[in-house]
Amino acid sequence: MRALEFSMSDAYSFDATEEGMRATYERMIAMYRRIFERLGLGEVLCVQADNGPIGGDGSAEFVAVTDGGEDAFLSCPACGHAASVERSDSRLPPAAPRSIAPDEVKARRVQTPGARSVAELCAALGSHPSHVVKTMVFVDPESDYAGLTAVCVRGDLDVDVARLRAAVGHVLTPASPELVRRLTGAEVGSLGPIGLQGVDRVLFDTSVREMRDFACGANRTGEHLLDVRNGRDVPVPRAFVNAYAAADGHGCPRCPGTLALRHGVELGHVFQLQQRYTSAMQVSFRDSGGAKSVPWMGCYGIGTTRVMQAIADLHGDERGMSWPPSIAPYLAHVVVTEPGSEAAARVLDGVLDRLGRNGVDALVDERAAGPGPQARRRRPHRVPGVRDRRPRRQRRRARGPPAQERRKSAACSRGGGRTDPGHRDVGARVRCGAPERRTVAHRRGSDAPPTRAPRAVASASASSVRRRLRGRRSLR
Ligand SMILES: [Zn+2]
Repeated sequence: MRALEFSMSDAYSFDATEEGMRATYERMIAMYRRIFERLGLGEVLCVQADNGPIGGDGSAEFVAVTDGGEDAFLSCPACGHAASVERSDSRLPPAAPRSIAPDEVKARRVQTPGARSVAELCAALGSHPSHVVKTMVFVDPESDYAGLTAVCVRGDLDVDVARLRAAVGHVLTPASPELVRRLTGAEVGSLGPIGLQGVDRVLFDTSVREMRDFACGANRTGEHLLDVRNGRDVPVPRAFVNAYAAADGHGCPRCPGTLALRHGVELGHVFQLQQRYTSAMQVSFRDSGGAKSVPWMGCYGIGTTRVMQAIADLHGDERGMSWPPSIAPYLAHVVVTEPGSEAAARVLDGVLDRLGRNGVDALVDERAAGPGPQARRRRPHRVPGVRDRRPRRQRRRARGPPAQERRKSAACSRGGGRTDPGHRDVGARVRCGAPERRTVAHRRGSDAPPTRAPRAVASASASSVRRRLRGRRSLR
């Protein structure tokens, strides 16, 4: 879930030293953890993240884990390590087992018409992607697209552009197939490190370091080389870059565990900005020795609207949202089923007194309506602390008939009953010839007040606000 509106709470820190900046950053992380815990957001992970265009070095995202989230990250269930896909290191899964060709087998050229991808090449050669070197071509968009950089990576892996940027120190983006064809003289799927023309440099990813005999493009469209050996057919590279993308199933970089790809909603992000902005804006201060110094900066943000979306995702169901007690507009919703009755007023006063003494905010509904419509009105609020003080007989009536009878009533829908057009928010409509009040009970399955909320209503809320709803005003 993502809304058009986005507002966030921002914080900035300025420290005299780099150590001070790191200490503030850690304190902010601890505070954010406590905030998200109190918000009842379930599993919230602090995920190492890429600083991206904002700059600086060192950042972390707070991610509420939910399958519906659009943020992808890798985490290790064994040690708790979590990092965004761009930021995560990993231990490579081993290459598929196979027998190594004897030394006298030389590299040879084979025709591979139509093999443009690693999968197509492996299908044609009967090989495994982990025995193929894939050559991908990138271009520097800031240098007018002049000069290409080729990156060789193991065939079952991909190059991550954020990690490549971190490795080479500037932005590189994938070159278009037309540009590759024009400058190298071969199609994208037929490139390889031997005799590659038209590129400024060839970089080797760490994933090819251990590869012995591999297949790669021959730099002529529809041709590949087999049994290419590092050190014999290709000079052993002097340096390797760490640019392959970590993926689900790779080994954890910190422990023997395995990384799993998970999804979540990003709730907040904290950054160590170093001196990037304070230097650029010529901010300075005199330190204790009187010397001029540039402060070290951090910035921190919580997407407040995003938090609400995450709560809707985690605490919502087909009947709407159910607010966690820490941010619910009211902790208790008192529904008076017989407004005007003296007995009800006495009970109400007693209930409100007790709630007030415990500092519980209560919403009081004294509008004249039966328990069914009142229960429906209450739904948009989904107040967490609800206690049913009605006599047992009334509660049972509101709950509707037992399950067995309900099934019988549902069956009578085939006979053609009528539906209540005012009853909008129930997914499956059940038709029934019973009187209206009964049909409402049938449809909800149970018309009793929500029982998922905690039964205790005491809380440490600062003030006891009571709002009374009288007459027939609608809550919506
Ligand atoms: Zn681990």
